[in-house]
Amino acid sequence: MMRFDVLTLFPDMFEAVLGDSIIGRARENGLLELNFIQIRDFSTDKHRRVDDYPYGGGAGMLMAVQPIYDAYRSVTDGLGYKPLTIYLSPQGRVFDQPCATELVQLEHIVLLCGHYEGVDQRVLDEIVDMELSIGDFVLTGGEIPAMAVIDTVARLVPGVLADASSYMGESHFHSLLEYPQYTRPPEILGRSVPEILLSGHHANIEVWKRQQSLRVTHEKRPDLLKKAELSETDLAFLKTLECGEGEG
Ligand code: SAM
Repeated sequence: MMRFDVLTLFPDMFEAVLGDSIIGRARENGLLELNFIQIRDFSTDKHRRVDDYPYGGGAGMLMAVQPIYDAYRSVTDGLGYKPLTIYLSPQGRVFDQPCATELVQLEHIVLLCGHYEGVDQRVLDEIVDMELSIGDFVLTGGEIPAMAVIDTVARLVPGVLADASSYMGESHFHSLLEYPQYTRPPEILGRSVPEILLSGHHANIEVWKRQQSLRVTHEKRPDLLKKAELSETDLAFLKTLECGEGEG
């Protein structure tokens, strides 16, 4: 069982994305616990305000310390340990598959979603262990990034996908992109499924899949090949691609 607590001003956004399908089923089956905590419920302000003007001027409003800190304490009080607490932020480490593989080792993660111009630095200094970004661009809030992190990590929790091999061969798991895939019918729009996939020859099919992974990565994301673990056979195949052979 893996648990995520999300501190957010928009808890309703999450159920629409994480309430159905694979993640919804994992929650029903007790493999995953997701709690969405409304920061505003913890505001001691009589108008339930959660934001204020930044000291020193500047555009926009900042989320204040008190409601976030109290929301956080409502999760952690009485736990007896400090769950890893992540602030979704465009300033953070860029989230990727190796990061998801690290996070899935943990049992409990707290995610803090910022909004407006961001969050008073003091509460970040007090509770946050790690900042994660989903890319070098700026969204209006941390909710979409938090959903991306939860979805990516949750599908690595043992039992969430029927078969671990379904993510082990996927793009990015071993720093290679996935080979092209086909389903029925064998011919449509004048295009055929590659003959080898219909051959039933499993060893040859495995070789084909590996070569296609190498080919696709070489074409679309050659930078990833530097990080991938490549055998002598892989390197020899990549050489044929550079010489313009090995296509198809
Ligand atoms: N003023 C902040 C800055 O320049 O770093 C950006 C604030 S942004 C408009 C509002 C919130 O969206 C942030 O507090 C953060 O939680 C979230 N956010 C925006 N872009 C993000 C990204 N690329 N990755 C993760 N979270 C992001």
